[in-house]
Amino acid sequence: MTELPARIELDRLARGRHEWSGSLPAGATPRLAELEASLGSAGASFSVDIGQGRPRIEGNCQGSVTVRCERCLEPMEVTVAGEFALVAVDRIEEADGLGVEDPVVVATKGQLDVLSMIEDELILGLPVVSRHERADCDGGQRHFGPPGESEPTRDNPFKVLESLRKDGSGDAY
Ligand SMILES: [Zn+2]
Repeated sequence: MTELPARIELDRLARGRHEWSGSLPAGATPRLAELEASLGSAGASFSVDIGQGRPRIEGNCQGSVTVRCERCLEPMEVTVAGEFALVAVDRIEEADGLGVEDPVVVATKGQLDVLSMIEDELILGLPVVSRHERADCDGGQRHFGPPGESEPTRDNPFKVLESLRKDGSGDAY
């Protein structure tokens, strides 16, 4: 899949319908990263309609996002998908005067920030509460193998701490 363009200059598009589809380049979702969610693969396809009024953007996106399970704090992968229909405005203040029900995307000076728009949609699609299914989630007791298998013996964590302190360098080995 080709990568989506980072930006589209709406002002330069001819009248009519324009279509894009592609994947999100790696590292394109800084706000997801702030939410401690890391994006696996993600893609989107959308169209931009240039007509009489403001540009209209419609499409869908999907991605796999790794988040932290709120119960056991282990990573879990969730599939996120969303559909969107947006009106592009120059400034957010313009949205007040629009009187349309469509949500807006701000494209300052006609510059549509594609990656940020898709990231927004992916964030909106994240589950409110992320938890493993019961069977996959141990509720905070870490298992190191399939159920029924005994846990491998580990060093007493306090001993490890002690050696860390003695060593001073933080390298216990
Ligand atoms: Zn869990």
